Amino acid sequence: MSDLSRLRADFPLLQQEMNGRPLVYLDSAATTQKPTAVLDAMDAYYRRYNANVHRGAYTLAQEATELYEGSRAKVAAFVGAASPREIVFTRGTTSAINTVAFGWGMYHLRPGDRILLTDLEHHANVVPWQLLCRHTGAHLDYLPLTPDYRVDLERLADRLDERVKVVGISGMSNVLGTILPVARVAAAARAVGAITVVDAAQMAPHLPVDVAALGVDFLACSAHKMLGPTGIGALWGRLELLEAMEPAEGGGEMIRDVGRDESTWAPAPHRFEAGTPPIAEAVGFGAAVDYLSAVGMDEVRRHEADLTGYALERLSEVPGLVVYGPPEVEHRGGAVSFTLADIHPHDLATILDQQGIAIRAGHHCAQPLHRLLGVPATARASFYLYNTRREVDALLPALAEARRLFGVA
Ligand code: PLP
Repeated sequence: MSDLSRLRADFPLLQQEMNGRPLVYLDSAATTQKPTAVLDAMDAYYRRYNANVHRGAYTLAQEATELYEGSRAKVAAFVGAASPREIVFTRGTTSAINTVAFGWGMYHLRPGDRILLTDLEHHANVVPWQLLCRHTGAHLDYLPLTPDYRVDLERLADRLDERVKVVGISGMSNVLGTILPVARVAAAARAVGAITVVDAAQMAPHLPVDVAALGVDFLACSAHKMLGPTGIGALWGRLELLEAMEPAEGGGEMIRDVGRDESTWAPAPHRFEAGTPPIAEAVGFGAAVDYLSAVGMDEVRRHEADLTGYALERLSEVPGLVVYGPPEVEHRGGAVSFTLADIHPHDLATILDQQGIAIRAGHHCAQPLHRLLGVPATARASFYLYNTRREVDALLPALAEARRLFGVA
């Protein structure tokens, strides 16, 4: 990051104090702060362009439609899609994965089929598949982790056979930070005829993504985790799969023709966007990927790898602190989850808040993973392009204060 201090100035929220200290925002894995470019784009949309999209014969509606569809093209380019038609706007990662589960899985899975996930998945990449299993009689299976918190590729061969129809894999863990070998898993899945669905909620904000190079079939992400607004995300799917898929939601906008008893669907992606879409949010999403592209995703990754390495080094100085996640920076992103002696993570988060530091505590929507880790909850500091080494340093006295308050030797 060549000029980080200038970049921080793009984020108005980061300029404030919290509990009498400069705000140190270390919760970007939950949601990210928004640059002025995103706020301005959404503001300008409502002030100058607001109209419903697709149906209007008048100029304003056409301009709004161009902005909405323009954002689709930006998101498509950001993930390396072959065409903007491969991008479905959804409410976020969760609804994107549900769209695949109920639009594809419901029509392709039979009793006895299997869905292979990994042991570190977020609930968004577990529960939709559990629901699908209930409806179809398919079963879930999990690829285990290695002792250093990576997925165990040696177990891939014995987990994959022609009964596996879907492999659901996170690109990057929101708890452990682990970067998963998506391309290798997708190649193995393809060899047995399974599709690969990537939960890229953490990957898309933090790593360059190229769906063609990954060789996957679907990829889901959330705008709010990549500098954009809440309420919108994207499902990328290979066009031939999207075209063959049924919509999980029906209503206006997504039809070709509606009769009294039957209807036919619009082509993808509009088939999956029933009702008035989140137009201002799409505009904000487009501005967010413009911002990230201007910084450069390689640069984002380089900065975060530096910060994460530094954080792991500094946290190793804290007696009683255990980090859960790969020790090598090349295998992990900037979500650093930890426990400190027997201090409850919620207490840790409250003590850090008094010092102006925002971290998250809990199971981070990954209860099965926490059960495997043997802890009900962890504290998590997570970094993004606007964080600094000085903010990592701020953790140390705050954690020392927690140890003092709880009498940890
Ligand atoms: N997957 C991962 C890895 C996540 O970190 C999250 C959010 O925390 C999600 C899925 C769900 O994203 P959303 O709540 O935006 O749908």
